[in-house]
Amino acid sequence: MSHYVTVPPSLPGELVESGCIIYIGPGNGNGYGVKRVQGKKCYAHRLALEAKLGRSLKPGYCACHTCDVRGCINPDHLFEGTYSENTLDAVKKGRYCKHSQKLTESDLGEIRQQLERGVSHTELAQR
Ligand SMILES: [Zn+2]
Repeated sequence: MSHYVTVPPSLPGELVESGCIIYIGPGNGNGYGVKRVQGKKCYAHRLALEAKLGRSLKPGYCACHTCDVRGCINPDHLFEGTYSENTLDAVKKGRYCKHSQKLTESDLGEIRQQLERGVSHTELAQR
């Protein structure tokens, strides 16, 4: 059974069995929820993290998911990290390196580029 919750700052979400809170609202086409704030499109999960931290994210940082569910806005599943930290974190968790080969700098660069283009961790891990 799922039920509806509101995550600060007033983001409507649905709490699912996994513990994730899935944002109910428009998406931006790549799985992330978006909410308009003062006419500007903002990522819902980023707003949820900023509300939890009580401040804006540092420049160059992004709202990362520990659960890898893009639509998730559960503040407990969000942390402030850089793109490369996010990637390295995923590597540490073994999502990229299933065959224990070492990732080179260029691999990481490529992964980073793909992440920026919106390729999901799961897709990358499968490659
Ligand atoms: Zn989650």
